[in-house]
Amino acid sequence: MKDYTKSKAAFVEASKIMPGGVNSPVRAFKNVGGDPLFIDHAKGDHIYDIDGNKYIDYVLSWGPLILGHAEDNVVSALQKAVEKGTSYGAPTPLETTLAEMVQKLVPSMEMMRMVSSGTEATMSAIRLARGWTGRDKIVKFIGNYHGHSDSLLVDAGSGMATFGINTSPGVPDPLAYDTLTVAYNDTAAIKKLFAEQGDEIACVIVEPVAGNMGVIPGTKEFLTALRDITKAHGSLLIFDEVMTGFRAGLHGVQGLTGITPDLTTLGKVVGGGLPVGVFGGRKDIMSDITPAGKVYHAGTLSGNPLAMTAGIATLSQLNEEMYTAMDAKVTHMLEGFKRSADAHKVPLVVHHVGTMWSYFFNEGPVNNFDDVQKSDVKFFAKFFKQLLQNGIYTAPSQYETNFLSVKHTDEDIDTTIAAFDDALTKTL
Ligand code: PLP
Repeated sequence: MKDYTKSKAAFVEASKIMPGGVNSPVRAFKNVGGDPLFIDHAKGDHIYDIDGNKYIDYVLSWGPLILGHAEDNVVSALQKAVEKGTSYGAPTPLETTLAEMVQKLVPSMEMMRMVSSGTEATMSAIRLARGWTGRDKIVKFIGNYHGHSDSLLVDAGSGMATFGINTSPGVPDPLAYDTLTVAYNDTAAIKKLFAEQGDEIACVIVEPVAGNMGVIPGTKEFLTALRDITKAHGSLLIFDEVMTGFRAGLHGVQGLTGITPDLTTLGKVVGGGLPVGVFGGRKDIMSDITPAGKVYHAGTLSGNPLAMTAGIATLSQLNEEMYTAMDAKVTHMLEGFKRSADAHKVPLVVHHVGTMWSYFFNEGPVNNFDDVQKSDVKFFAKFFKQLLQNGIYTAPSQYETNFLSVKHTDEDIDTTIAAFDDALTKTL
């Protein structure tokens, strides 16, 4: 049995000064009935808690660390950068370098702005869409999560779904009222909504592969319909690729599907483990931002030199071969999970797109939030804790995604398959 004495004590102390003992809700492990691990350090695909326990990490800081923890080139680039100062509040060439790298990989981002989180990226993109179209209403999909800005905290996934909250106290009714929600992958419903209110809608924001209710791919039919219908009504289509960017594939979901949004938001991998978000897209729309245009956007630490350095050091190492190799590893791992579940007669649905993967204790199919809610979350909670005991660190919620890094070896994958099988045996 792993000993968690120091993590438990740290959680007691943290809870005295921070609500729930954490700075982001799902970290608290509340829904899985446990105490969170407090981390000491991490390297490659391994993470170590303050009790000295070692785990293969599939959370990877909720996605950013595609090169693994403390990757040598990222660390040495940061060490050099920090000597030169930590923030200037004035432009540096680093911002242009990262923007050019992003544009090469995601060409629909003709112009872009750097911010410090995914939340800021989506919030700014929504304001721009409203400012540019002169309309207030926006559309999002049930179970999609776009960060914690007011307009987007309606029927959201991730922590909201984990804790069963539809919207948050503190979100003014008029803002929630202007956020229209529709079931994910429901093409008929979005067509109906646009037939009724299309000319009042500023934008549709979508996770083109949903990752905040587990992994659920948007169907080609659904995403194509979103592209066509927004265009027909003068609304903007925003692909929130904060999670899928450089994860679903090197060029995001827009690269996989060939569907081009008007605006794109990025986060996570683009900052290589430091706080970076990006929003960008069509030049004519982006030109509407201050001081070139009138839609306000700003940030004291936007384009921070350390954050830019980590992003550049990360993106400069990515290539197609890495994604092919990671995809093959995830496929192999999920096949192993499925074989094990079948042998134990446990209903299991596995989904993955590129380096994002998740499993549902569910009879299936799982195509939207209603389907996810049929999953056995009590079994998930017990199973999750057993996986931890077996040295495997996965997302502590049925409504989250797991990730792979280039550092996960074939041996790690086989260890994980065996740990999964053992955890099933012990949970049943
Ligand atoms: N958009 C998506 C799709 C996300 O998955 C997240 C976070 O998980 C966000 C936006 C918000 O990003 P951040 O947590 O960096 O504010």
